[in-house]
Amino acid sequence: MQIHTTAEPELAWQEQALCAQTGSDFFFPEPGSSVREAKYICRLCEMRPACLEYALTHDERFGVWGGLSEKERLQLRRT
Ligand code: SF4
Repeated sequence: MQIHTTAEPELAWQEQALCAQTGSDFFFPEPGSSVREAKYICRLCEMRPACLEYALTHDERFGVWGGLSEKERLQLRRT
């Protein structure tokens, strides 16, 4: 019997997300704080494309997703 730990198939990439190992603090910093550490981790994460696509599809407004900040994702949506 195979056990699935992710309820939604579209979230399967999260099981291999590097941020799942580091904790979410870097990715949801206080307003005005640096997102440099989060972006560094994202650059090493193989799930980056799936993560960014998910964030754009679900209009995630807060935090760093797929290596992009809130502002960068907003700019990407406008192009
Ligand atoms: S790309 Fe997405 S899944 Fe990977 S570390 Fe960054 S925020 Fe987490």
